[in-house]
Amino acid sequence: MNKTKSKLRYKKRKSLLYKSGVEYGDWCLNHIENCAHGCKFPCYAMMMAKRFGKIKTYADWLCPILVENSLELLDKEIPKYKKNIDFVHLCFMTDPFMCGYPEIEDMTLKIIGKLNQNDIKATVLTKGIFPIELTNANKYSQKNEYGITLVSLNEDFKKEFEPNTAKYNKRLDSLRKLHEAGLKTWISMEPYPTPNLDKKENLSKLLESVKFVDKIIFGKLNYNVVSSRYKGGMDFYNKCAEMVISFCKKHDIEYHIKFGTQKTDNKKTKVLFKKEKAKQLTCV
Ligand code: SF4
Repeated sequence: MNKTKSKLRYKKRKSLLYKSGVEYGDWCLNHIENCAHGCKFPCYAMMMAKRFGKIKTYADWLCPILVENSLELLDKEIPKYKKNIDFVHLCFMTDPFMCGYPEIEDMTLKIIGKLNQNDIKATVLTKGIFPIELTNANKYSQKNEYGITLVSLNEDFKKEFEPNTAKYNKRLDSLRKLHEAGLKTWISMEPYPTPNLDKKENLSKLLESVKFVDKIIFGKLNYNVVSSRYKGGMDFYNKCAEMVISFCKKHDIEYHIKFGTQKTDNKKTKVLFKKEKAKQLTCV
């Protein structure tokens, strides 16, 4: 938990569900603004929040604001959009299980429950800890898909680049428990760092640690000056992508390599969550 975390603030909004236009998008929602996890890759969501004038500084980004009328908004919006929704992703622009904020976890669980009661599947991505409650089949759909972002096992790297997120081993344990309960799990292995950023970079060890999941999405690190200085970056990522593909084939794991990571993109694998459309399920 982040010792300097700020008090949670609340706000009301007029809408919640929206259709995403990104590489992998179906419907999504962000019931929190900002993110106390404070990733320094940098975080794409934070860059957007700055660009659109929603925050001014990194310190602003660390102060989450919970949309307190999220459930009421869903009551209005689900009947309106349901026929067009294949699944809803939580979240593209924040983290639904933000460490140290039980109120956020509580709202996230209620939202997943409400979507499922309306026969809408949820896909969820976090750098926090999944509550074991999600294994309760009376409250949450068995069709939901749960993912963690995991790009390293080096806690020193985590401290520097994902300062307030859950420890890697705890993140992984919570995902493994969902898998052991029979739920679908996946890994967002992006933005994968170059070795000049993660001194203990070890892709084969990382892949071994996530062998149990159903899907892996692998992608390069963008927007980082130090990473872009790494000599032979394109070859490095191409080699990593080949390693991921061969590992996934060997262990019967679905995979998608994000566009721009390999020298030649394979667009056939972009349909992991829905077979007709491509989706990018990441918050960075
Ligand atoms: S990358 Fe994701 S978890 Fe990290 S600060 Fe951004 S939104 Fe939060």
